[in-house]
Amino acid sequence: MRPLQMVDTKTQYLKIKSEVDAAVIAVFESAEFIGGKVVNDFAANLAKYNGSGYVIPCANGTDALQIALMALDLQPGDEVITPSFTYIATVEVAALLRIKPVFVEVNPKTFCIEPAAIEKAITAKTKAIIPVHLYGHSADMETIMKIAASHNLYVIEDNAQGIGCDYTFSNGQVKKTGSIGHIGCTSFYPSKNLGAYGDGGAMFTDDENLAVKLKMIASHGQQKKYYHDVVGCNSRLDAIQAAILDIKLKHLDEYIASRRKAADFYDKAFAGNKKITVPFRQKNSNHVFHQYTLILNDLNRDAMNKFLAENGVPSMIYYPVPAHRQKMFESFGGAGYQLPVTDWLTERVISLPIHTELDEEQQNYIVSKVLAFVNN
Ligand SMILES: *Cc1c(COP(=O)(O)O)cnc(C)c1O
Repeated sequence: MRPLQMVDTKTQYLKIKSEVDAAVIAVFESAEFIGGKVVNDFAANLAKYNGSGYVIPCANGTDALQIALMALDLQPGDEVITPSFTYIATVEVAALLRIKPVFVEVNPKTFCIEPAAIEKAITAKTKAIIPVHLYGHSADMETIMKIAASHNLYVIEDNAQGIGCDYTFSNGQVKKTGSIGHIGCTSFYPSKNLGAYGDGGAMFTDDENLAVKLKMIASHGQQKKYYHDVVGCNSRLDAIQAAILDIKLKHLDEYIASRRKAADFYDKAFAGNKKITVPFRQKNSNHVFHQYTLILNDLNRDAMNKFLAENGVPSMIYYPVPAHRQKMFESFGGAGYQLPVTDWLTERVISLPIHTELDEEQQNYIVSKVLAFVNN
């Protein structure tokens, strides 16, 4: 059996090696390392895939979120409503701009932001909502967009874990996550579902004015070289990464299908076990399984993590500390929050290896070790 890993980017690479190697060498030969045709072509292909009017590539997913907040002209003291149960990047960028992150609860089944909690947290200072499509399925976007419209708020989707996910509205319309809010943000970190061989990120929007602004801000606030109209930053996707991503984009649906197959295998193996709750499958959103995350019921998680590790099975806690309990947010009143669902989940979630290269032998082994611990 091949050794187990949380993600196996190497085996995946070997299957597309000839394509990737040729594309990377073509970039070397073109000497067009920053911007240019390869980056533009990838952005156009990704826009088409995602059903978004515009894709603006940038250096990483964290930058995408920061640039989104800057493009919406959010000011120090403004508030953005976000889940606390997320990766720190979602909220760190707000704090960096002196915008106040207001943390709200997630739904205990979907792990995504709870619309009713958003409504309660809206104040005169609220400017935006940042739903996170955590682990690879969608937040309740239809309700969130309605709340946003009725309070005149922006919606920035953190789609770093959700790329490729289809969300179905009650009228039957299907949209990709990241194309629903005013701006969608994603990350091409190597372990993400559409992962580069280095860092990368992108922003999505249908609004032409916003697209122009996002692009400007990512490029030192300039549209015309050396004429800087607004304060921006320097955030670029390089051509080598774009070349690799363009190849992987063609495989994305097949990669998602492999992740789903692996998730189905786990679901079946764990079905009916009262000690573990398998990932919730929503009616209106399919799941792209960036993570396969269990909720443990009356089990010692640390002991399970240790037992699995001793048996060669990696497992991870995403994330061990919710944002509102991070030291970083003490000055933003982090300690004052009461988020029992978030705390409850934080103590009980555990993620198993899931990626495009898992085979049945590996999964059978993982399942046998998980059940050996759980049923002990
Ligand atoms: C990975 C991730 C990010 C940040 O992306 P980077 O490319 O690492 O900056 C932001 N939000 C979520 C939910 C993520 O998973």
